[in-house]
Amino acid sequence: MAFASSALLPVAPVSDNCMIELREIEKRYPTGDTETVVLRDVSFRIDAGEFVAIMGPSGSGKSTLMHILGLLDAPSHGTYLLEGTDVAALPEDERAAIRSRRIGFVFQAFNLLPRATVFRNVALPLVYAGMARRVRRAHIERALTAAGLPADRWQHRSNQLSGGQMQRVAIARALVNDPALLLADEPTGNLDTATGEVVLETFQRLHQEAHRTIVLITHEQYVAEHAQRILHIRDGAIREDIRNHAPRIARITSPHAHP
Ligand code: ADP
Repeated sequence: MAFASSALLPVAPVSDNCMIELREIEKRYPTGDTETVVLRDVSFRIDAGEFVAIMGPSGSGKSTLMHILGLLDAPSHGTYLLEGTDVAALPEDERAAIRSRRIGFVFQAFNLLPRATVFRNVALPLVYAGMARRVRRAHIERALTAAGLPADRWQHRSNQLSGGQMQRVAIARALVNDPALLLADEPTGNLDTATGEVVLETFQRLHQEAHRTIVLITHEQYVAEHAQRILHIRDGAIREDIRNHAPRIARITSPHAHP
């Protein structure tokens, strides 16, 4: 019976686990009399729970792609489905609403408010979302714990922290709204190698234990090898899409890098 009924299933069932689907995305900029094509025919899917690195050299189009994935910019052509919603053609205010609820950003330069406390930095997305103060605390504590920042740092000002700790605060801020997607743009770019491991270990833990969907943009092969899948971008096009069956395991080695 099982054989008979399975024969009726579609040959290629559509995954209902799809987080991101890009179809034939193009981005062009006017330059003088002509146009520069920065992204060309970019199509791929990312399922919920994947940890994907988008890797390419400087100028290959990574930031442009990240801005489109993060709804910070719209493509010139093509379709972008985020959790099944066609977001490419939405007006900016609707894109902003989806962005603030569904996407958490981690940037190379941390982008923290230096004189505000850790707690305040992580609270800000909840403040913007209009969450009442009394319910914020539990969300903030959960995010800081998930990002691995010890509680004795939570009332410090962010400019009193080490680079690795600052990036943990930035990760907590990205997590606090419980986003569908974590987008990290060169998150280890401002850190020494040992501290970068701390950040990569955090992403690997969030992926493995909390089943977070993570897209990490990098120009470094070494960093990309920590992901489960590597998309290679060059001259604005995806050249390779590789399953990384043996990801590099991030290890915290230096006492200076810890936590
Ligand atoms: P990456 O992040 O991989 O370094 P970018 O996405 O920043 O690459 O840029 C890809 C290419 O697009 C570069 O050649 C860059 O000069 C060009 N580019 C980016 N933004 C613009 C723009 N606003 N106008 C014209 N060209 C741009």
